[in-house]
Amino acid sequence: MTKYNSRAASRRPATAGRKFSGSSRRNQKSSHRGAYIHPSKFINKATITTTETVYESKHTFKDFGFQSILQHNLDKKGFTKPSAIQDQAIKPILEGKDVVGLANTGTGKTAAFVLPLIEKLIGRPPQPTVLIMAPTRELALQINDEFKIFSQGLRLFSALVVGGTDINRQIRELKRGQHVIIGTPGRLRDLMNRGQIDLSKVACLVLDEADRMLDMGFVNDIRSIIQDLPEKRQTLFFSATITQSIRVLIDEFLTDHIEISVRTADTSERVDQDVLYANTKEEKLEQLIALLQSPEFEKTLVFGETKFGVQRLSDHIEKIGISSVAIHGNKSQPQRQRALRAFKDNTAKVMVATDVAARGLDIPNVTHVINFDQPMTYEDYVHRIGRTGRAGATGKALTFVPRNNQ
Ligand code: AMP
Repeated sequence: MTKYNSRAASRRPATAGRKFSGSSRRNQKSSHRGAYIHPSKFINKATITTTETVYESKHTFKDFGFQSILQHNLDKKGFTKPSAIQDQAIKPILEGKDVVGLANTGTGKTAAFVLPLIEKLIGRPPQPTVLIMAPTRELALQINDEFKIFSQGLRLFSALVVGGTDINRQIRELKRGQHVIIGTPGRLRDLMNRGQIDLSKVACLVLDEADRMLDMGFVNDIRSIIQDLPEKRQTLFFSATITQSIRVLIDEFLTDHIEISVRTADTSERVDQDVLYANTKEEKLEQLIALLQSPEFEKTLVFGETKFGVQRLSDHIEKIGISSVAIHGNKSQPQRQRALRAFKDNTAKVMVATDVAARGLDIPNVTHVINFDQPMTYEDYVHRIGRTGRAGATGKALTFVPRNNQ
């Protein structure tokens, strides 16, 4: 179901037209480690064919009146019809309104904000005018890639400001001047503290996957970054869920915003879920390898609990002769990117990941998700299995549980 609400607030009038108006330690998750989840919650038969409804977009891309080079880039990318979030968000963003988008990865939310922001940036000088914050390096990189594709030939520049990369190189890059800064809150805060980013001209702030940023303990970084931005600005806020703490942020930082919800049917309805019984790690390994060797496990994402365990598991799978990569926080940014690319382009059949590393990633055609270690919360579980069963396909998720639960 799609809803399109206008909510009135009084602090600051919305601007119209195509112009812009104008370190803390990361906590672990707030939920308790290893909270018990009953195995029955890991079992469900997918009901996709009966619940999915096709969204009828009210606009074509031509209706948005993008300048010809941008429209050309859009055609070249092969986007023909706006997705639900694009259909509803592009116009208000072009008009300068604050927008809250309730949307998860896979809905086309990146282009929903990148396209109108590019349109508004065309012809402007290369100074930070748009600031985009994302929870993970990978998501920031995906946004930057999309920005580069759509801004080809428009002389618009962006800088990626994420952890795990050489800060001095980033400082040098920033000195060259960019229209858009895309970054993770920790590194952004760090650079601001060193006086190396000038955000005094930011006219639009985008918070992508705000719920994940809060989950990852970035709230203080976010707050202090926003406090340094001009008050007169446009703010776009994307989140898959709206919790009480998200609502507090929205009320604090957005003005006269509209809300757009494009949440699809619960992921759990689109994914065939079952459990695998095993009591020891060896038993789990034996079953996992047998599964990965069967042909239908074409592209499998395996979740583990610790960075170390994830790496070891991937090495083990690789040794058996099944191509596998690992993605976790102990890897450098280039290593993570290489791993992700190998999995995306099917060079690796298996990717083993921690929850945090896999968040928000857009990986098409994952056939199976296997929870080698159980997720800590049911919400994590839903995020994990949401990596499969996308874009109308039925995915499969398997979770190891101890046999004495039978
Ligand atoms: P996102 O939700 O932004 O991560 O996008 C998910 C995927 O959908 C990405 O691979 C996009 O390139 C793709 N996509 C976004 N919008 C469209 C569209 N209008 N038509 C076709 N593909 C799209």
